[in-house]
Amino acid sequence: MSVADARGEESWLAQLAPLGPRQITVLLDVSNKCNIRCRMCYFSYDAVFHRKSRFLEPARFRDIAAQLFPLAHTVYLSAGSEPLTSPHFEELLRIAAPYRVPDLKFLTNGLLLTPSLSRALVECGVRQIHVSMDGARRETYEWARRGASYDRLVANLRELESIKRELHSELPWVQINATVMRRNLAELPEFVDVALGVGATRIACRHLMAYDGLEMEAESPHLDKPATNRALRALMQRAVESKRVAIVNLPDPFALDGAAGAAEAGDREPDDAPTARPAPEPGALALAAARPFGHVDTPAELHVRAAGDLELTGWALARDEVVAVECWREPLGAGEPVDGELGLVLLGRARFLAGMRVDVAQRHPDIEQRYRSAWSYVLPRAELPDVEGALLRLHVIARDRVGRRAELGQRTVVRARADEQPYLYCRRPFDCVYIDSAGDVYPYPDCQSLDPFAHFDGSGDFKSLWRSAPFESLRRAIVENRPPKMCVTCPDRINRNVDDQAFFEERVVRAAYARPLGFLEQVDARDDGRALVWSGWALAPEQAVRVELLRVRADAGPEHLGFAEPAPHERADVARAYPRIAAARHSAFELCCTSARLGDGAHALVLRAVGDDAVATELGAREVTVRDGRVQAIGAAAPRGFGLGSRERFV
Ligand code: SF4
Repeated sequence: MSVADARGEESWLAQLAPLGPRQITVLLDVSNKCNIRCRMCYFSYDAVFHRKSRFLEPARFRDIAAQLFPLAHTVYLSAGSEPLTSPHFEELLRIAAPYRVPDLKFLTNGLLLTPSLSRALVECGVRQIHVSMDGARRETYEWARRGASYDRLVANLRELESIKRELHSELPWVQINATVMRRNLAELPEFVDVALGVGATRIACRHLMAYDGLEMEAESPHLDKPATNRALRALMQRAVESKRVAIVNLPDPFALDGAAGAAEAGDREPDDAPTARPAPEPGALALAAARPFGHVDTPAELHVRAAGDLELTGWALARDEVVAVECWREPLGAGEPVDGELGLVLLGRARFLAGMRVDVAQRHPDIEQRYRSAWSYVLPRAELPDVEGALLRLHVIARDRVGRRAELGQRTVVRARADEQPYLYCRRPFDCVYIDSAGDVYPYPDCQSLDPFAHFDGSGDFKSLWRSAPFESLRRAIVENRPPKMCVTCPDRINRNVDDQAFFEERVVRAAYARPLGFLEQVDARDDGRALVWSGWALAPEQAVRVELLRVRADAGPEHLGFAEPAPHERADVARAYPRIAAARHSAFELCCTSARLGDGAHALVLRAVGDDAVATELGAREVTVRDGRVQAIGAAAPRGFGLGSRERFV
C-alpha cells in the first residue's frame, strides 16, 4: 500500500506542503537577460545571450505578488538572470514593498545599480543582495566576467553603502558570491578585503560547474584539490581575523586520501600546524582545554518513530577541531561486537555542512572551525530493527583532532509504520516555487524538467496550482523515495558532494542551447482559399535546420504534411539579433500546403523547426477549417508540445 493510499493523498501531501502565511520561498525571474557574458555561465551561449528580451510586466507582477507574497517568508527577485536589466525593476520593488516579506532579496552582478535604484532598495526593505564577483583582483574579475568593469562594480557598491548610511539603514546586507576556480584560488582570502572595502558583510562560495563548449574544464577546482582546500581554509582564516565578514557558504573540503579526518589534517600547510596556532584570546582559555561540544537539533523529540531513512542534524565544535561526528547505537543483543571504549556499535559518520550555521559561528567567534559546525547523518532504513515497535538507542558523538570525544545527544528510535513519517530527499517542492519571466512554473530553478509544471500569470488561483497534479506527483515520488531523472542529476542535490567525481564532469547542455530558434510570423490563405502559406524565420546556431508542417490527429501520431523552402528575401533584423550566427541573414522560410492536401474539416496544424540532431522547436500552431476545398478559418492554437517551444532552460 502506498503512502498516499494509506493516508488519503490529499490530506497527507497537504500536511507536508502547507500553504499558509509566510510558509514558502518564492523565486522569480523578472528578466531573461544578462548584460555580461561570464565565461562559466550559460549566457555565454549565443542562443541564450541573444534571445528575445522578456521582462515581467508590472501589472502581472502585481497580480503575482498579491497572491504569493503574503504566503512567502522569502522572495528572490532573480534566480537565473540579471534582474537589473528589467526596465521595470524599481517599479517592481515599490510594488513588493508593502507586503513586508521578511527576506526580500535578489542575485545580481551589481553593474547596473544606480543611485536611484540603491535608494529604492533601502526604502523598499530589501534585506539582502547577493553580488556575483568571481575575482577579488581586477584582472581575474574582468577575465571571468566578460564585459564587466571592476571599478564600476566597486563604485556602485560604495554608493549603495553611502546611501544606507545616509538613510540610517543596515539593510540591504551585501553578500559577495564567488565561484571557486583554479584561477582565483590564490586570491580567495582577498575577497574579505574587497568585502570590507565595499561594505559587504558576507561571502558565499561554490565550486565551478563546467558546461560543455565553454572551455572552462581546466579551471575546475577538483584538478587541484590540495590547493583548493588550502585556499578555502585561508579564506576562512582571513574572515575570522576581519571580525566583520562572515562566510555563509563554503564547499566541503575534498577528501584527499578517502578519509575525511585524514584529509582535514593532511591538506594543511606546515605553518598551519596545531603547534603554530596563535595563543587563544582572553576568555577562551577554559575552552581550549575542553572537549568537543554541540547539539543534536533534529529530530527535536527524544523518542522518534521512523519508517524510512531518518536524518539527524546538529552542530559540533571544538577548540582542537571536530574531525568526526559519529552515530553509534547500543548493542541489540548480548555477544554483539562493540567498541571497547564506548561499548557501542558504530553506525556511520555524519557529513559536515560548511556555512550552514551562521548562528553558531556568531556565538563562537574565537573558534576557527566555526563555519563548518553543522552536520547531518542519515540513519539508513536498513539499520532500523525489523520488528515493528522495536527500539534502537542512538548516541551521537563528536571527536576532535586529538582524539577527545563528547556525546552531543541521544535519541531512541522506534520502527513505525511505513506511512507515518516519510524521509524527504528534497524539500524544495514542499516549500518553494519558481516562476520564470515567461510565467512558467517549476518547484525550484534546479528542477530542470523538459516541460514547465504549470503556467502562472497571477490571474489564476495559485492554491490550486500548488496542489496540481505535476507538483503532487513529484511530491509523491519524493515521499516514496523514487527520484525522477531530473532529481538524480540535480545540481542542488549534489552541490555538497564534492568528492563525487560526477559533479565536476563537464555538463552537456549545449545541445539544449544549440536547438533551433525561430518564429512563425504569418499564415495566409491564398489562391481563393485553395492554399495556405506559412512564413517566418528559423535557424540553428551550429547546424542546418528544416521547417516541417504536421497535422495533429487524436487517434494516431502526427502526420507530416511537408517541408518549407528558403524564402528569397534577407532578414536583416534576425541577423542583427544573432550576429554570431551566419545563417541568420537567410533564415526566412515559406511553406505552402494546399487545401486539397488537408481535406474538408477542422485541422490542428503545427509548424516546427528540426535540427540535424532531431532536436525540435515548435514555431507555432493553428486551427484551420476547410470546407468545400477552401480555407474557411484560421484560428490561434495553444502550443502542442512538438518541440521545446519557448523553453529556454536545461533539458
Ligand atoms: S530536481 Fe529534484 S532534487 Fe533537485 S530541487 Fe528539484 S525536486 Fe529537489
